[in-house]
Amino acid sequence: MPDLIHNLDAVRERIAFAARAAGRDPRSITLLAVSKTFPSEDIRAAHLAGQRAFGENYVQEALTKLDALTDLRDSIEWHFIGPLQSNKTRPVAERFDWVHSVDRLKIAQRLAEQRPEGLPPLNVCIQVNVSGEASKSGVTPSEVTDVAHAVAALPTLRLRGLMAIPEPAADIDAQRTPHRALREWFDRLRADGLALDTLSMGMSGDLEAAVLEGATIVRIGTAIFGARDYSN
Ligand SMILES: *Cc1c(COP(=O)(O)O)cnc(C)c1O
Repeated sequence: MPDLIHNLDAVRERIAFAARAAGRDPRSITLLAVSKTFPSEDIRAAHLAGQRAFGENYVQEALTKLDALTDLRDSIEWHFIGPLQSNKTRPVAERFDWVHSVDRLKIAQRLAEQRPEGLPPLNVCIQVNVSGEASKSGVTPSEVTDVAHAVAALPTLRLRGLMAIPEPAADIDAQRTPHRALREWFDRLRADGLALDTLSMGMSGDLEAAVLEGATIVRIGTAIFGARDYSN
């Protein structure tokens, strides 16, 4: 899969370039390859090219791929990044390493209850609705502080930080605004005593803006795997 290898290199270059522009160490930014709608063979190819963190959005689809890739379990970090219904939390608690899309306390409580004993704590981020449209999930900025403190107190979870999916914007200045807003909430929570280290923001179209505003995980799908086909 020459395209995939080439794309992966190009994305790594984009991250490194943006990091240098921001005066940051490129190694402080983790590339999360978002593999939703793509088959396990593509994940295997990206893994062979050195990629280790993969993001999935749909529980059923993800489980099929996790099952096909059990031989790589110890060298892949699985991140759940999609909307999570409360009746679907169990397999996510049991089989993923991270959940970026905690958008209400109830989901965090279920994940905490269902995280199996003997596994390390499940790493979680709280998804914040920084763009403020009614249609997007995420806690509203006014709820962030209370939800973050409540999630941080749950055993078997480790609150790592915040995640956002801002509205697409054409130019980099407009893209930076919601990323900056997320970083400001992150800074506030840290000043409040929460030990957070993760800002999950930036996708194929806006990763530079996100890195300039402090992203520590960028979630990249299209720029690595190509355009998605949802018809199947
Ligand atoms: C699909 C998806 C991505 C990747 O988006 P691209 O624009 O394809 O890079 C990132 N984050 C979330 C939450 C997604 O659902």
